[in-house]
Amino acid sequence: MIDLHTHSLLSDGELLPTELARRAVVAGYSAIAITDHADASNLGHVIAGLKAACAEINRAMPIRAVAGVELTHIPPERIPFMVKKARRLGAGLVVGHGETLAEPVSEGTNEAFIAAGVEVLAHPGLITASECRSAAAAGVLLEITCRAGHSLSNGHVAAMARRHKAGLVLNTDAHAPKDLATPESALRTVLGAGLGKAQFRTMVKNAQTLLEKIRS
Ligand SMILES: [Zn+2]
Ligand SMILES: [Zn+2]
Repeated sequence: MIDLHTHSLLSDGELLPTELARRAVVAGYSAIAITDHADASNLGHVIAGLKAACAEINRAMPIRAVAGVELTHIPPERIPFMVKKARRLGAGLVVGHGETLAEPVSEGTNEAFIAAGVEVLAHPGLITASECRSAAAAGVLLEITCRAGHSLSNGHVAAMARRHKAGLVLNTDAHAPKDLATPESALRTVLGAGLGKAQFRTMVKNAQTLLEKIRS
């Protein structure tokens, strides 16, 4: 299992990055990206802290950890600048906090993150056809999420991504140990979104391909 969207206590998660990684090892994960919420207040220290933690995790633990960030509630016009800044600071993976139905995310956020070329657009809510086509063209992966609330639109995201040939990925958006998935719970979430086992395999493959790209 691979998870490209998790949180540690560097934002609003419950665990230190190292304990999150240890819990993920025990749960059977081969790789996780730790992608704490960030805005201008904490971008630098979140990335620096996660880079230091992930370097140690990768030295001695049987899991690959990627230091990422989830840019959250950034005004759409500032998204291009913040994505560039995150990359300049060394984020290995940038997740965009999309227009979830569970929070009042600014309209235009999905479009701005796709245009900025984030790796993953998290919980994109009622994503439009044109946003899906842009994501497909730009290689931005759209997220099917295990997280309650954000998962309200999984069925819509899955159907739109299939129709417009955008890549999908399954993430837990874990904030606590109980949020990490099992192979069974992950598959149930995929099936619940109206997808099948073959699509689940493709989603895992999409995550693997992205990890290989980040490595090189
Ligand atoms: Zn959070
Ligand atoms: Zn998140």
